[in-house]
Amino acid sequence: MNPAKSSPVQIARRGLMLVISSPSGAGKSTIARTLLETDRQIGLSVSVTTRQRRPSEVEDVHYHFKSVREFERLRDSDALLEWAEVHGNFYGTPREPVEQAMAEGRDMLFDIDWQGAQQLQEKMSADVVSIFVLPPTMTELQSRLHRRAEDSEEVIQTRLANSRAEIAHWREYDYVIINDDLNAALDAVQSIVKAERLRRDRRHGMFDFVRALLEETPSL
Ligand code: ADP
Ligand code: 5GP
Repeated sequence: MNPAKSSPVQIARRGLMLVISSPSGAGKSTIARTLLETDRQIGLSVSVTTRQRRPSEVEDVHYHFKSVREFERLRDSDALLEWAEVHGNFYGTPREPVEQAMAEGRDMLFDIDWQGAQQLQEKMSADVVSIFVLPPTMTELQSRLHRRAEDSEEVIQTRLANSRAEIAHWREYDYVIINDDLNAALDAVQSIVKAERLRRDRRHGMFDFVRALLEETPSL
Protein backbone atom coordinates (compact mmCIF):
# COMPACT_ATOMS: atom_id res chain seq x y z
CA MET A 1 0.00 0.00 0.00
CA ASN A 2 1.38 3.36 -1.01
CA PRO A 3 0.94 5.79 1.92
CA ALA A 4 1.07 8.76 -0.49
CA LYS A 5 -2.06 7.56 -2.27
CA SER A 6 -5.44 8.72 -1.05
CA SER A 7 -7.93 6.57 -2.97
CA PRO A 8 -7.91 2.85 -3.83
CA VAL A 9 -7.18 1.79 -7.41
CA GLN A 10 -10.37 1.46 -9.47
CA ILE A 11 -10.31 -1.01 -12.37
CA ALA A 12 -12.99 -0.57 -15.06
CA ARG A 13 -15.03 -3.73 -15.65
CA ARG A 14 -18.07 -5.06 -17.51
CA GLY A 15 -21.36 -5.30 -15.64
CA LEU A 16 -22.64 -8.62 -14.30
CA MET A 17 -25.98 -10.11 -15.30
CA LEU A 18 -26.85 -11.95 -12.11
CA VAL A 19 -29.64 -14.45 -12.80
CA ILE A 20 -31.47 -16.06 -9.85
CA SER A 21 -34.01 -18.85 -10.37
CA SER A 22 -35.80 -21.29 -8.08
CA PRO A 23 -39.08 -23.11 -7.72
CA SER A 24 -41.73 -20.71 -6.47
CA GLY A 25 -41.47 -20.23 -2.70
CA ALA A 26 -37.81 -21.27 -2.29
CA GLY A 27 -36.94 -17.69 -1.41
CA LYS A 28 -35.24 -16.14 -4.44
CA SER A 29 -37.19 -12.87 -4.25
CA THR A 30 -36.35 -12.51 -0.55
CA ILE A 31 -32.66 -13.13 -1.29
CA ALA A 32 -32.77 -10.78 -4.27
CA ARG A 33 -34.46 -8.00 -2.29
CA THR A 34 -31.96 -8.22 0.56
CA LEU A 35 -29.03 -8.29 -1.86
CA LEU A 36 -30.31 -5.12 -3.56
CA GLU A 37 -30.66 -3.39 -0.19
CA THR A 38 -27.12 -4.26 0.85
CA ASP A 39 -25.35 -3.76 -2.49
CA ARG A 40 -26.05 -0.43 -4.13
CA GLN A 41 -24.01 -1.33 -7.22
CA ILE A 42 -26.70 -3.76 -8.41
CA GLY A 43 -29.93 -2.70 -10.12
CA LEU A 44 -33.03 -4.85 -10.54
CA SER A 45 -34.42 -5.79 -13.93
CA VAL A 46 -38.16 -5.16 -13.54
CA SER A 47 -40.06 -7.67 -15.67
CA VAL A 48 -43.36 -7.30 -17.46
CA THR A 49 -46.03 -9.84 -16.55
CA THR A 50 -49.63 -10.69 -17.33
CA ARG A 51 -50.28 -12.19 -13.89
CA GLN A 52 -52.47 -10.54 -11.27
CA ARG A 53 -50.71 -8.13 -8.91
CA ARG A 54 -50.29 -9.50 -5.36
CA PRO A 55 -51.56 -7.27 -2.51
CA SER A 56 -48.01 -6.35 -1.43
CA GLU A 57 -46.75 -5.58 -4.93
CA VAL A 58 -46.26 -2.12 -6.39
CA GLU A 59 -46.63 -1.35 -10.11
CA ASP A 60 -43.26 -0.62 -11.79
CA VAL A 61 -41.36 -1.62 -8.63
CA HIS A 62 -42.00 -5.38 -8.53
CA TYR A 63 -43.36 -5.76 -12.07
CA HIS A 64 -44.84 -3.80 -14.95
CA PHE A 65 -48.30 -5.39 -14.97
CA LYS A 66 -49.73 -5.74 -18.50
CA SER A 67 -52.70 -7.23 -20.32
CA VAL A 68 -52.02 -10.18 -22.63
CA ARG A 69 -52.54 -7.88 -25.61
CA GLU A 70 -49.99 -5.33 -24.30
CA PHE A 71 -47.54 -8.12 -23.55
CA GLU A 72 -47.87 -9.53 -27.07
CA ARG A 73 -47.29 -6.09 -28.56
CA LEU A 74 -44.03 -5.72 -26.58
CA ARG A 75 -42.91 -9.23 -27.47
CA ASP A 76 -43.70 -8.82 -31.18
CA SER A 77 -41.87 -5.47 -31.40
CA ASP A 78 -38.70 -7.10 -30.02
CA ALA A 79 -38.85 -4.98 -26.85
CA LEU A 80 -38.21 -8.07 -24.67
CA LEU A 81 -34.76 -9.60 -24.28
CA GLU A 82 -36.36 -12.90 -23.25
CA TRP A 83 -39.84 -14.08 -22.37
CA ALA A 84 -41.61 -17.23 -21.19
CA GLU A 85 -44.93 -18.62 -20.05
CA VAL A 86 -44.66 -19.59 -16.36
CA HIS A 87 -47.48 -21.05 -14.25
CA GLY A 88 -49.99 -20.01 -16.95
CA ASN A 89 -48.90 -16.34 -17.20
CA PHE A 90 -46.49 -14.48 -19.49
CA TYR A 91 -43.31 -12.91 -18.13
CA GLY A 92 -40.56 -11.03 -19.96
CA THR A 93 -37.45 -8.88 -19.49
CA PRO A 94 -37.53 -5.38 -21.06
CA ARG A 95 -34.54 -5.08 -23.37
CA GLU A 96 -33.70 -1.37 -23.16
CA PRO A 97 -32.76 -1.04 -19.43
CA VAL A 98 -30.49 -4.10 -19.68
CA GLU A 99 -28.65 -2.88 -22.75
CA GLN A 100 -28.17 0.52 -21.11
CA ALA A 101 -26.85 -1.00 -17.86
CA MET A 102 -24.42 -3.26 -19.72
CA ALA A 103 -23.15 -0.37 -21.87
CA GLU A 104 -22.44 1.61 -18.68
CA GLY A 105 -20.78 -1.33 -16.87
CA ARG A 106 -23.53 -1.58 -14.23
CA ASP A 107 -24.61 -4.88 -12.60
CA MET A 108 -28.18 -6.14 -12.99
CA LEU A 109 -30.15 -8.78 -11.17
CA PHE A 110 -32.77 -10.95 -12.89
CA ASP A 111 -35.37 -12.91 -10.92
CA ILE A 112 -36.45 -15.14 -13.84
CA ASP A 113 -37.26 -18.80 -14.47
CA TRP A 114 -35.09 -21.47 -16.16
CA GLN A 115 -36.50 -20.67 -19.62
CA GLY A 116 -35.44 -17.04 -19.29
CA ALA A 117 -32.06 -18.05 -17.84
CA GLN A 118 -31.45 -20.28 -20.87
CA GLN A 119 -32.29 -17.45 -23.29
CA LEU A 120 -29.98 -14.95 -21.57
CA GLN A 121 -27.25 -17.59 -21.39
CA GLU A 122 -27.52 -18.10 -25.17
CA LYS A 123 -27.53 -14.38 -25.99
CA MET A 124 -25.12 -12.93 -23.45
CA SER A 125 -23.14 -15.82 -21.99
CA ALA A 126 -20.03 -13.75 -21.21
CA ASP A 127 -21.99 -11.49 -18.86
CA VAL A 128 -24.37 -13.98 -17.21
CA VAL A 129 -23.70 -15.44 -13.75
CA SER A 130 -26.52 -17.80 -12.79
CA ILE A 131 -27.62 -19.06 -9.38
CA PHE A 132 -30.27 -21.70 -8.67
CA VAL A 133 -31.90 -21.61 -5.23
CA LEU A 134 -33.22 -24.86 -3.74
CA PRO A 135 -35.47 -25.26 -0.69
CA PRO A 136 -34.11 -27.51 2.11
CA THR A 137 -37.14 -29.86 1.77
CA MET A 138 -40.34 -30.04 -0.29
CA THR A 139 -42.33 -29.81 2.95
CA GLU A 140 -40.64 -26.50 3.76
CA LEU A 141 -41.28 -25.29 0.19
CA GLN A 142 -44.98 -25.98 0.67
CA SER A 143 -45.13 -24.22 4.01
CA ARG A 144 -43.24 -21.18 2.65
CA LEU A 145 -45.79 -20.86 -0.15
CA HIS A 146 -48.56 -20.91 2.46
CA ARG A 147 -46.69 -18.57 4.84
CA ARG A 148 -46.25 -16.02 2.06
CA ALA A 149 -50.07 -15.94 2.06
CA GLU A 150 -50.34 -13.90 -1.12
CA ASP A 151 -51.65 -16.52 -3.54
CA SER A 152 -54.90 -18.51 -3.62
CA GLU A 153 -54.84 -22.21 -2.70
CA GLU A 154 -55.33 -23.05 -6.39
CA VAL A 155 -52.30 -20.95 -7.41
CA ILE A 156 -50.21 -22.52 -4.63
CA GLN A 157 -51.14 -26.01 -5.83
CA THR A 158 -50.19 -25.15 -9.45
CA ARG A 159 -46.81 -23.81 -8.27
CA LEU A 160 -46.13 -26.86 -6.12
CA ALA A 161 -47.03 -29.18 -8.99
CA ASN A 162 -44.58 -27.28 -11.25
CA SER A 163 -41.75 -27.18 -8.71
CA ARG A 164 -40.26 -30.60 -9.52
CA ALA A 165 -40.01 -29.75 -13.23
CA GLU A 166 -38.23 -26.49 -12.33
CA ILE A 167 -35.82 -28.16 -9.91
CA ALA A 168 -34.86 -30.57 -12.73
CA HIS A 169 -32.96 -27.64 -14.34
CA TRP A 170 -30.58 -27.08 -11.41
CA ARG A 171 -27.53 -28.34 -13.30
CA GLU A 172 -27.83 -25.62 -15.96
CA TYR A 173 -26.71 -22.97 -13.43
CA ASP A 174 -23.21 -21.82 -12.44
CA TYR A 175 -23.99 -21.97 -8.70
CA VAL A 176 -26.55 -23.84 -6.58
CA ILE A 177 -27.57 -22.64 -3.12
CA ILE A 178 -29.79 -24.37 -0.55
CA ASN A 179 -31.85 -21.69 1.15
CA ASP A 180 -32.19 -23.19 4.60
CA ASP A 181 -30.87 -20.35 6.76
CA LEU A 182 -31.61 -17.05 4.97
CA ASN A 183 -28.48 -15.27 6.24
CA ALA A 184 -26.24 -18.11 5.09
CA ALA A 185 -27.90 -18.11 1.65
CA LEU A 186 -27.47 -14.36 1.37
CA ASP A 187 -23.86 -14.62 2.44
CA ALA A 188 -23.25 -17.21 -0.30
CA VAL A 189 -24.81 -14.97 -2.96
CA GLN A 190 -22.74 -11.98 -1.78
CA SER A 191 -19.57 -14.09 -1.98
CA ILE A 192 -20.41 -15.15 -5.53
CA VAL A 193 -20.98 -11.53 -6.59
CA LYS A 194 -17.74 -10.42 -4.94
CA ALA A 195 -15.67 -13.11 -6.67
CA GLU A 196 -17.34 -12.74 -10.08
CA ARG A 197 -16.61 -8.99 -10.06
CA LEU A 198 -12.93 -9.85 -9.73
CA ARG A 199 -12.78 -12.21 -12.72
CA ARG A 200 -9.97 -11.23 -15.05
CA ASP A 201 -12.01 -11.43 -18.26
CA ARG A 202 -14.54 -8.95 -16.85
CA ARG A 203 -11.95 -6.33 -15.83
CA HIS A 204 -10.94 -4.71 -19.12
CA GLY A 205 -9.38 -1.80 -17.19
CA MET A 206 -6.67 -4.20 -16.06
CA PHE A 207 -4.84 -3.77 -19.38
CA ASP A 208 -4.20 -0.06 -18.71
CA PHE A 209 -3.36 -0.72 -15.08
CA VAL A 210 -0.74 -3.38 -15.87
CA ARG A 211 0.72 -1.27 -18.70
CA ALA A 212 1.17 1.68 -16.34
CA LEU A 213 2.51 -0.64 -13.64
CA LEU A 214 5.21 -1.97 -15.95
CA GLU A 215 6.13 1.51 -17.17
CA GLU A 216 6.62 2.79 -13.65
CA THR A 217 10.14 3.13 -12.39
CA PRO A 218 10.26 3.27 -8.60
CA SER A 219 12.09 6.35 -7.39
CA LEU A 220 14.08 5.45 -4.34
P1 ADP B 1 -39.78 -16.99 -4.33
O1 ADP B 1 -39.39 -15.62 -4.77
O2 ADP B 1 -38.70 -17.99 -4.58
O3 ADP B 1 -41.10 -17.43 -4.87
P2 ADP B 1 -40.09 -15.74 -1.69
O4 ADP B 1 -38.83 -14.97 -1.61
O5 ADP B 1 -41.35 -14.99 -1.96
O6 ADP B 1 -39.96 -16.97 -2.73
O7 ADP B 1 -40.22 -16.56 -0.31
C1 ADP B 1 -41.37 -17.35 -0.02
C2 ADP B 1 -41.65 -17.25 1.49
O8 ADP B 1 -40.60 -17.91 2.20
C3 ADP B 1 -41.69 -15.82 2.01
O9 ADP B 1 -42.73 -15.73 2.97
C4 ADP B 1 -40.31 -15.63 2.65
O10 ADP B 1 -40.36 -14.69 3.70
C5 ADP B 1 -40.00 -17.03 3.16
N1 ADP B 1 -38.56 -17.36 3.21
C6 ADP B 1 -37.61 -17.08 2.31
N2 ADP B 1 -36.40 -17.58 2.68
C7 ADP B 1 -36.61 -18.22 3.86
C8 ADP B 1 -35.75 -18.95 4.78
N3 ADP B 1 -34.45 -19.13 4.54
N4 ADP B 1 -36.30 -19.44 5.88
C9 ADP B 1 -37.62 -19.28 6.13
N5 ADP B 1 -38.49 -18.60 5.34
C10 ADP B 1 -37.99 -18.08 4.21
P1 5GP C 1 -43.94 -14.80 -9.52
O1 5GP C 1 -45.29 -14.89 -10.17
O2 5GP C 1 -43.84 -15.66 -8.28
O3 5GP C 1 -43.48 -13.39 -9.27
O4 5GP C 1 -42.92 -15.42 -10.56
C1 5GP C 1 -43.16 -16.68 -11.13
C2 5GP C 1 -41.94 -17.15 -11.89
O5 5GP C 1 -41.73 -16.32 -13.03
C3 5GP C 1 -40.66 -17.10 -11.08
O6 5GP C 1 -39.92 -18.29 -11.35
C4 5GP C 1 -39.95 -15.89 -11.61
O7 5GP C 1 -38.54 -15.99 -11.47
C5 5GP C 1 -40.35 -15.97 -13.07
N1 5GP C 1 -40.19 -14.68 -13.77
C6 5GP C 1 -40.40 -13.43 -13.30
N2 5GP C 1 -40.10 -12.51 -14.24
C7 5GP C 1 -39.66 -13.20 -15.32
C8 5GP C 1 -39.19 -12.80 -16.61
O8 5GP C 1 -39.08 -11.63 -16.97
N3 5GP C 1 -38.83 -13.80 -17.46
C9 5GP C 1 -38.92 -15.11 -17.13
N4 5GP C 1 -38.52 -16.02 -18.04
N5 5GP C 1 -39.36 -15.52 -15.94
C10 5GP C 1 -39.73 -14.58 -15.04
